Amino acid sequence: MRYGIIADIHSNLEALQAVLEAIGKVDSYLCLGDIVGYGADPNACMEIVRGLPGLHVVAGNHDLAVASRYDISYFNPWAAAAVVWTRQALVPEHLVYLKALATREVFEAITLAHGALPDPMEYVLSAADAAVTLRHTTRPLTVIGHTHLAEYYRLSEGERRPRHVAMGRGGVVRLRPEDARPGDRWLVNCGSVGQPRDGSPLAACGVYDTQTAQIEIKRVQYDIAAAQRKIIAAGLPEVLASRLEVGR
Ligand code: ZN
Repeated sequence: MRYGIIADIHSNLEALQAVLEAIGKVDSYLCLGDIVGYGADPNACMEIVRGLPGLHVVAGNHDLAVASRYDISYFNPWAAAAVVWTRQALVPEHLVYLKALATREVFEAITLAHGALPDPMEYVLSAADAAVTLRHTTRPLTVIGHTHLAEYYRLSEGERRPRHVAMGRGGVVRLRPEDARPGDRWLVNCGSVGQPRDGSPLAACGVYDTQTAQIEIKRVQYDIAAAQRKIIAAGLPEVLASRLEVGR
């Protein structure tokens, strides 16, 4: 089984199209939320994500805020402005979809959430946060987004703190390494499709192959200038356009 992994798309159509092409043919998609917010193409991104084969999807904080399920006062002024803009731009059908989205899903060996557990609106910012999240699920693999950073944590039985590996340049997470131990748990973030924040403007995504037990994290070039032009033309805050080219 091959899964495409996408998160934090943030209405960036150019980035979404580029990562789907880079992911190629897969059996199923895992979407870790924040389909909308920040960018200028919420309807097109919703349309594409909803049409992905074998889709498992959970809501992010921006999805919930747009659907009036999360308090906008938690957001900075630009994010809040984008939420208000997106709420008006989205066609009712997509709003209804966001209103009904679950905030976590567990199936087979995988837990999906936008952020930390038990509260997916919280961030995993440290090994201590990752430990809390990993002890909160019974599944060996948890995939999340939210920080917009590609990275993973591995917690082996008997260890208090998981090991952390930054994956900003992309690369392969081997879920069955030579020193694999029964009870190993993995927390993997494949980074953000539509608004990377690790200093690289490249879009990020992942491909999980259950046969090889590997998740490949990919960094993908896309037409940043086109996405920026649309943000400006939509009257969204300019900083939401300028940050795309610096990956912050
Ligand atoms: Zn996000």
